[in-house]
Formats: sequence, structure tokens, C-alpha cells
Amino acid sequence: LLEMKHIKKEFSGVSVIRDISFSVEQGEILAIIGPSGSGKSTLLRCATMLETIENGEILYMGKKAVWTENGKLFLAKKQQRREIESCFGLVFQNFNLFPHFSVIKNITDAPIRVQKREKETVYREAEILLKKMGLADKADAYPHQLSGGQQQRVSIARALALKPKMLFFDEPTSALDPELTGEILKVIKNLATEHMTMVIVTHEMKFARNVADRIIFMDKGAIAIQGTPEEVFSSENQRMQEFLGKLS
Ligand code: ATP
Ligand code: MG
Repeated sequence: LLEMKHIKKEFSGVSVIRDISFSVEQGEILAIIGPSGSGKSTLLRCATMLETIENGEILYMGKKAVWTENGKLFLAKKQQRREIESCFGLVFQNFNLFPHFSVIKNITDAPIRVQKREKETVYREAEILLKKMGLADKADAYPHQLSGGQQQRVSIARALALKPKMLFFDEPTSALDPELTGEILKVIKNLATEHMTMVIVTHEMKFARNVADRIIFMDKGAIAIQGTPEEVFSSENQRMQEFLGKLS
């Protein structure tokens, strides 16, 4: 579904992503872990075309979305890029809901306005999504009237309303206290049982271990280890051991 090949990213000459390659298959759940500043968010932003890259190739469904040739950056044509962009959804750490839109409007706005889908169908599906997220009674509430956990569930519903083939999460629980964190992790686990393809940047090691099919441990802009949860957590890689040591 997604292929990242030899991705390099710099910020004002400083190398932040150093030659990273990985792929994500349909139905797969990939967790990305690693110390603060190792480049996890930047990698997601590159994958979702929110950042340019200095080198590499990004393909969705086998089609080139972004690539470089002799240091020059190329983007797929507008029409194809739209198609590619509609195949993934994004959930951020800080929810990023529109504060002046009600919950239902947050969820239905893009499907109606961007995807030009029929209003009634979109509303009906949004109500089903809200029910699924345990928020059936919050359709007309505004983001500031909701708890962090509820806001995050709205932002997951908003991403799902666009019917993506895969979802990216960037530390979806790190702004939440432990109780609300559990709430969100449960929602993600449910999506996992429905075989949603997901890439999840997280500091929740137990969750990563239980839910992910594969884990990438990033260190200083590179993949230090990549493998099944068992392989990664039992690895004798020194940086991984230090990282786990700091967490416990
Ligand atoms: P955290 O766990 O704290 O979220 P991270 O692994 O997500 O960290 P990134 O946010 O990807 O790390 O940052 C990687 C490096 O890139 C850091 O050194 C950061 O300072 C730098 N960086 C990120 N975004 C920018 C930017 N827009 N401009 C300049 N430098 C940036
Ligand atoms: Mg980050």
C-alpha cells in the first residue's frame, strides 16, 4: 500500500531523516517508536506529503506520489495526488479539530466539500461513526466542550469519514491522561480487528507490542531496528536497550 524508499530530509542543512526505507502492506499495523527528536513525526509528515523530501521515492498503491531525480523533487500530477491523498487519514497528537465547527460539522465538512459526496449519505455515515466512537450524543457539541479523549475520538471519526485505505497516528495519546489514553488505545485496537492499515507513532510500548505486526525503532533519523515486536523488544541493540531503560 505504501512504499518509502531511501527517504532523506533536511531542515536548513541539518539531516533529520537519513536514508529510510520501509513499506506498509494492506491490513498491516506498523508502530514507530524511538527517542524524542529521532525524526518520527518528520517521517510521518514526509509520508503524508506535508513535508518535501531531499531524496527518495514515496509510492501509494504502487503509484509514485513524490520522488527525486538528480536532487530535484517531483510530485504526481494534481489529479493523481488528490487520489493518493484521499487514500490516507491523519490523526495528530493535539486533535487539530476546527474549534468553530460542531462535532458533526468537523466530521462531515471534508467529505462534502472536498470529496463532493452527497450530503445526506455523509451525515448518515457520520452518525454511525459517532455511535461507534461512543459519541452519539455529542454531534452538536463544540470541541472545547469535550474532554481530550472525546476530542481525539472525534478526530479519528473525522479521518474515517473520508474512507481512507490507511491511517497515520502521531502520538495520538500523548496529550491525554492515562484513563483517556486507554480509551483511545481501545478505539485503535478495534480498528485493528477490522484490519484497518495503520502506521502509529507511539510512546505506549505495551500497546505497540500487543497491537503492531511490525515495529520500527528510530534513532537519530535512521531505522536502528525493524522487525516483529518480539524481535525488536528482545534486541540487544544498545540504543534500544537504553531507550527501554529510560522508559521503565
Ligand atoms: P518527539 O518524540 O519529541 O515527537 P520526533 O521523533 O517526532 O520527536 P521530530 O519532530 O520528527 O522528532 O524532529 C526531528 C528533528 O527535526 C528534531 O531535531 C527537530 O528539532 C527537527 N525539526 C522538526 N521539524 C522541524 C522544522 N519544521 N524545522 C526545523 N527543524 C525541525
Ligand atoms: Mg513527534
